[in-house]
Amino acid sequence: MVSLILFGPPGAGKGTQAQTLAHCWQIPKISTGDTLRAAVANQTDLGIEAQAHMERGELVPDALVIALIRERLNQADAKLGWILDGFPRNISQAYSLEELLEQINQDYNCVVSLVVPEAVLVARLLKRGHAEGRKDDDEAVIRRRLQVYWEQTAPLIDFYRDRQRLVDINGNMEVEAVTTAIKNAVAGYVH
Ligand code: AMP
Repeated sequence: MVSLILFGPPGAGKGTQAQTLAHCWQIPKISTGDTLRAAVANQTDLGIEAQAHMERGELVPDALVIALIRERLNQADAKLGWILDGFPRNISQAYSLEELLEQINQDYNCVVSLVVPEAVLVARLLKRGHAEGRKDDDEAVIRRRLQVYWEQTAPLIDFYRDRQRLVDINGNMEVEAVTTAIKNAVAGYVH
């Protein structure tokens, strides 16, 4: 069973890779960002609460995303594997995930960390902002999201390295080459 955390800064290609791999392995891609954007579009209670944080490039409060992940991991299709995209985003979320997985008698195989130079990230995000009209892909918000990443999310690299579950993958290659590299790396952790 594949249970993978895809990790990396905004623009590293987590969403693209998660999509391809989820299709290949026939398991759900669980993306907190996608779920939150849908909630904002539908103006649900969750969306209304998340919107201002997202538009500023800040993290949405932990309680909201943890509730969302708990509910999603308990659905039937997540019993046979999953790919997490964009969660956890800070140390507190990482501890919550460990607790949650223990409660449902699951574990993650490994954490794939996509490594991409900062200048490439900014260029990709600006391009996506133009293509998809994502409000948080405006340059000032991009800078803030990258800052939030370095301050709050990057410490997870050491967290997972200490647990000997972290695999670094060069995310600055052709999309297909990155997919292949991830598949090869994950094979070493799945049993
Ligand atoms: P993403 O598509 O993963 O870049 O997420 C877009 C935005 O959704 C982020 O900038 C945050 O505002 C919010 N978000 C997504 N995942 C999380 C998370 N795990 N914790 C807090 N906020 C999140």
